[in-house]
Amino acid sequence: MTHSNNPRQDLVLEAKQFAIETAPLLENSQDRIESARNLYAAFARKNYHALLIPEHCGGRGLDYTSTGIVYEALSYHLPGSLHAPITTAHCAEMIKSANTEVLRDTYLSEIARKGLAVGFCLTENSAGSDIAAITTKAKKTREGYVINGEKTVVLNHAIASYFIAFATTSPERGRAGINAFIIKPETKGVKISAPYEVEGLTGSVMGEVLFDKVPARQKYRLGEEGSGYFLLMETLDKGRPLVAANCTGSAHRAFDIIVTYTKQRQQFRKNLFAFQGISLKLAEYATRLNAARLLYLDALGRIDAGQSFTMEASMSKLFASETLTDITSFGMDILGYRGIVTSSLIKKLYQEAQLLKSIDGTANVQKMVIASQL
Ligand SMILES: Cc1cc2nc3c(=O)[nH]c(=O)nc-3n(C[C@H](O)[C@H](O)[C@H](O)COP(=O)(O)OP(=O)(O)OC[C@H]3O[C@@H](n4cnc5c(N)ncnc54)[C@H](O)[C@@H]3O)c2cc1C
Repeated sequence: MTHSNNPRQDLVLEAKQFAIETAPLLENSQDRIESARNLYAAFARKNYHALLIPEHCGGRGLDYTSTGIVYEALSYHLPGSLHAPITTAHCAEMIKSANTEVLRDTYLSEIARKGLAVGFCLTENSAGSDIAAITTKAKKTREGYVINGEKTVVLNHAIASYFIAFATTSPERGRAGINAFIIKPETKGVKISAPYEVEGLTGSVMGEVLFDKVPARQKYRLGEEGSGYFLLMETLDKGRPLVAANCTGSAHRAFDIIVTYTKQRQQFRKNLFAFQGISLKLAEYATRLNAARLLYLDALGRIDAGQSFTMEASMSKLFASETLTDITSFGMDILGYRGIVTSSLIKKLYQEAQLLKSIDGTANVQKMVIASQL
């Protein structure tokens, strides 16, 4: 690959080249777990699962802004395939808050250098948006903790080498009772389900993780006792503009498909684009797409600059996710019957919009966060 004197532009070109080489892996989906492993390994060979992990631990050591730019480019060229590396990135961000430098660097180095996947075990049947309602218990013992509970939606569940599990030591203390633990899937008492059948989840696996009297030594607890909720909030805050970058890349791809199609498709002896009912809608979406990009870049720039970013992060996720939803559903309308066939890319992007809606908090959760900052 030739290099320009613009490193971020080089990252975009590199992502495009990677997507061209990797696209065939997305078509081979006989065994979901095997496909997920193969795709993840391809991402890991380029260190795309470790963009934010420091270089001294074997990661790329990028800043948040550059990471967002890479995610946008990857999701434009390989839509729907970023869930697994982004989940690992979220987990690595939590590990950065580990109690000791040795523990932190050991895990981050393993994840980066060995190309490991990590799973984030938070959501439960009765705890979705209401994170503090988790019932998974971490009972204190002399050696550490014993964990009991069931996590219902864990991405990477069948390919992860580590889980980060959230559990409460004292339910009566609410948020202050929540802790996060690093747990190996092969630990006695950890059980995983078969992968869910999820439309549009390309090359990733997702399922349940059960913790049945799982021992966790104290040193595998992240942060101080009772700090799990606050670590989680910080991780979600930082993750939201990165998910927004993912939404923006997919929205841009859908937009390009619609523009190309409407300029070719003739009805009533004109291109569809020639009807103002359509072109003015596209003008609106072009504007929203640009705004989505600027919002996520603003939030990531604030993280890089050490400024407050909670509100801007939620604004970026809210706006980009709704832009993706609206553009892809417009695309489904515009492409008519061509949109609904199984191989249709616009359908895949539409499904991706449905998945991205809930990740790192739904639209209403983002609005609650924004309102809390007003
Ligand atoms: C593709 C995908 C991957 C995921 N990966 C993981 C993972 O790796 N690990 C993990 O732990 N979880 C994961 N999740 C779960 C995700 O975090 C939850 O789906 C999300 O937190 C929402 O929870 P819920 O689906 O139970 O919806 P609910 O919380 O039940 O919400 C349902 C609806 O009610 C609205 N609502 C809820 N409360 C309020 C309120 N107070 N005011 C107004 N409206 C409200 C919500 O906005 C939403 O529209 C994943 C989800 C998806 C779709």
